[in-house]
Amino acid sequence: MEVPQKCAECGTAWTNRQTCEDCFQQMLFWEADYPAYGAEVHHLLVLCYHLQHPSLYSPVGLKAAKQLLLEFVEQRASPAEVRQRYQARVDSSQRDWKITGTPAAHGSYDPPIQWTMTASDVVAGGAENYCDNVRLWARAINERLKTTQ
Ligand SMILES: [Zn+2]
Repeated sequence: MEVPQKCAECGTAWTNRQTCEDCFQQMLFWEADYPAYGAEVHHLLVLCYHLQHPSLYSPVGLKAAKQLLLEFVEQRASPAEVRQRYQARVDSSQRDWKITGTPAAHGSYDPPIQWTMTASDVVAGGAENYCDNVRLWARAINERLKTTQ
């Protein structure tokens, strides 16, 4: 069977058989090697990766994730602030609030989004530029979501 050369979700061309998931793993390795990186941008990494692979989210989870990115990028909220805000919402009325997508109910974009930057671009930028590139990535995704959704 032919191995797919392109990500069905974010559209990235997989060169040298490096998939988006490989890129995600690479970034997690960098964060493990340099804990200061993780402290700075781990929350953005997870959000960006999942937003570009929306089937990982439930439809409700995707909506919440878009809002979360907006709060991080535009309101410069810290992870601790956002966690507090969301905990209150999730704990109270919304017991059925599901973040994770299932084959029957998952997030998607209609029409599909042409991204200007993806996980492979951040990895290509190397460990030394990792934090700056993750922030650029987050801003690029936020802009794209605002203009297309
Ligand atoms: Zn992808």
